[in-house]
Amino acid sequence: MELTHIEHIGIAVKDLRKAIDYYEKILGLSCYAIEEVKSQKVRTAFFRIGQTKIELLESTDPEGPVGKFIEKKGEGIHHIAFAVRNIEQALEEAAGKGVHLIDQQPRKGAEGLDIAFLHPRSTFGVLTEFCENKTDKK
Ligand code: ZN
Repeated sequence: MELTHIEHIGIAVKDLRKAIDYYEKILGLSCYAIEEVKSQKVRTAFFRIGQTKIELLESTDPEGPVGKFIEKKGEGIHHIAFAVRNIEQALEEAAGKGVHLIDQQPRKGAEGLDIAFLHPRSTFGVLTEFCENKTDKK
């Protein structure tokens, strides 16, 4: 597989508005998108820093994945997302090498990216996301 860069870091927060204020007013970044991802029961806010993004995640449902994460672990880094050249091939290769996949097939995530998660029990405790921006490619 070929990873090109860290696409984003996902950070679970309790209050999106307050967290956005911190990133904007203290760190001086600017939020360029807020998007609800209904399938994941989250509202997301995005900031660019170089070619990497920060993705803030606020749960819209205590039973959703981010709601449960905050309940168990509190706020903090939720996942790391790597940009890959070919997501289907990367998943197949990871699975072939014994990595437990959360998503067997890519699905649509925020910003129209194709995404899939690897299970933290196979990744030294880090929920890992692969992303491919197929709209970038001709
Ligand atoms: Zn993500």
